[in-house]
Amino acid sequence: MTKKIVLVTGGSGLVGSAIREVIEGEKPSDEEWIFASSKDANLCDPESTAAMFDKYKPTHVIHLAAQVGGLFANMKYKVEFWRNNIAMNDNIFQECHKRGVQKLVSCLSTCIFPDKTTFPIDETMIHNGPPHFSNEGYAYAKRMVDVQNRMYKAQHGCNFTAVIPTNIFGKHDNFHLDDSHVIPGLIHRGYLCKQKGEPFTIWGSGKPLRQFIYSTDLARLMIWTMREYEEADPIILSVGEEDEISIADVAHSVAKALDFQGEVNFDTTKADGQFKKTANNAKLRKYLPDFKFTPFDEAMATTVEWFMANYDVPGAVRK
Ligand code: NAP
Ligand code: GDP
Repeated sequence: MTKKIVLVTGGSGLVGSAIREVIEGEKPSDEEWIFASSKDANLCDPESTAAMFDKYKPTHVIHLAAQVGGLFANMKYKVEFWRNNIAMNDNIFQECHKRGVQKLVSCLSTCIFPDKTTFPIDETMIHNGPPHFSNEGYAYAKRMVDVQNRMYKAQHGCNFTAVIPTNIFGKHDNFHLDDSHVIPGLIHRGYLCKQKGEPFTIWGSGKPLRQFIYSTDLARLMIWTMREYEEADPIILSVGEEDEISIADVAHSVAKALDFQGEVNFDTTKADGQFKKTANNAKLRKYLPDFKFTPFDEAMATTVEWFMANYDVPGAVRK
């Protein structure tokens, strides 16, 4: 049997590292996995992207590489979020098409859905209105991936699809104090506040609601998508609606995992972003009714433990 060659772009990031860990545990004999980072190619550059495809000759691609960040990075760098993501996606789609890649799985996000919408949101609602103004550069660039999937299928018969995860967290995340997503940002800030004996300040009101997915759970679901999911239409990869929690709940879970005993307060001069993005995972449940998500507090404890164990190891924690 010919081996599949699976190229993972963004292989050094949060999701890529989780996929690598799951695959290293499985050791599949019929697949060779390659985890590429920006050291392998600058995917904003067509020639660099082509050279990477020349080198690895993938039969399957999981495209994770992107300019990624939390609410505050999205508000500051709208143009870069638009330009870099549009360029990377265009280069990847074109190379996958030109080289007859058998399957391409790209990554959208529930934060690209319309701001004013009915809830819960599902896979059919991506283009039904403007996204929240705070992340429009990222959201419009990512929405085009769904359009590209359909166009490449219609014109060239390509088997290209996308997953739609909610807010992701886990080991190997980006723990930057200003530009990261809420969980890694709060873990890092809470860790420093504990060391300094200062109050732990949460940005915004703490009231917005989010569904979070642990990177290892997402990794398992993305590997399943690559192997089994045959629709061009995207699929939401999320915990259920009943597992939606507030940012204040997140802050208390972070404080508990860090054993932070001091004062927790909220800086309401900072933005809240979209109030909620409640996603429906019925399509996923139709395919995988028995998939078990890691309980939130357990995933949080593992992530915080990893962060603290690696904080002082040179180059281990992105911060
Ligand atoms: P991440 O940890 O920030 O990692 C980004 C990855 O992209 C890194 O491997 C990085 O390589 C690579 N990359 C960035 N710019 C590149 C370039 N110009 N050329 C080549 N590679 C480049 O991202 P993540 O959180 O794992 O996100 C993975 C996917 O999930 C993304 O498509 C993102 O949009 C999507 N997503 C993320 C979230 C979330 O909460 N994190 C939520 C929903 C969807 P280096 O390490 O070499 O810089
Ligand atoms: P989003 O889920 O796409 O909106 O992105 P984030 O992961 O950045 O979460 C943003 C929500 O968390 C907003 O309601 C913020 O006000 C709140 N938040 C609280 N503290 C922080 C923090 O330290 N960093 C970030 N990124 N968000 C925070």
